[in-house]
Amino acid sequence: MIKGKTAIVTGASRGIGEAIAYKLASMGANIAVIYAGSKESAENVAKLCEEKYKVKAIAYNCDVANFDMAKETINKIKADFGAVHILINNAGVTRDGLVAMMKEEDFDKVLDTNLKGTFNMIRHSVGLFLREKEGCIINISSISGIMGNAGQANYSASKAGVIGLTKSVARELASRNIRCNAVAPGFIATSMTENLVNDAILKAIPLGRVGKVEDVASAVAYLVEADYITGEVIKVDGGMAI
Ligand code: NAP
Repeated sequence: MIKGKTAIVTGASRGIGEAIAYKLASMGANIAVIYAGSKESAENVAKLCEEKYKVKAIAYNCDVANFDMAKETINKIKADFGAVHILINNAGVTRDGLVAMMKEEDFDKVLDTNLKGTFNMIRHSVGLFLREKEGCIINISSISGIMGNAGQANYSASKAGVIGLTKSVARELASRNIRCNAVAPGFIATSMTENLVNDAILKAIPLGRVGKVEDVASAVAYLVEADYITGEVIKVDGGMAI
């Protein structure tokens, strides 16, 4: 069903985004691999998509927090691929700290990347979806945006914002055959979490293990094909936020 379609995956140079890029490529989608600084890694992801899955894939440097750069990048993708059908907003950062001591720049950086970056990419893609008379947007939130998390006031606020954004966009664009859903991961093994796993965290996960990037990619793949689901948030957290 998604064979031959074009998917933009932000933050696809590593971690969860890389796994999403491979999963969608394995289903036959062409992939625009967006990265911020990891050029070599992003180009390797694109190369692997092309060599292993025989799809078209190109890496693009884009700071999703930058409104104009997001617009230029999406225009380039349109010129290179001809159309865009799927947008996965996965790029994200953390700047953890207690709220009483949190620096303004750390609050802004996280909100700008995680929430405004998601808005920027949606804002500039919608015209292309309207032209195609179809669109699928999936935003990567977090269970921190559902439960809150001490030490992550900025991150939780950004990820809760992503859920509100998802539901509004879903309502606004449903009549134009554009769906918008979110995936809220719990604890997934990536560079974002590599020094954070401990016994207390494992005890808080009913399934007793940290998630794999492929666990999140599978939920994204499901939502891409789930034609009658919009405005939904799927947790991929081993039960942590039950
Ligand atoms: P990661 O390994 O740290 O990778 C982050 C990705 O985002 C990288 O590809 C990075 O690009 C990209 N990125 C960062 N800032 C960007 C910007 N301004 N513009 C464009 N790209 C940018 O993170 P991850 O663990 O895979 O997380 C992916 C998403 O899942 C994030 O939204 C995160 O909040 C969410 N999430 C993760 C977990 C978890 O446990 N890991 C849990 C819940 C939610 P470069 O490589 O070029 O820097």
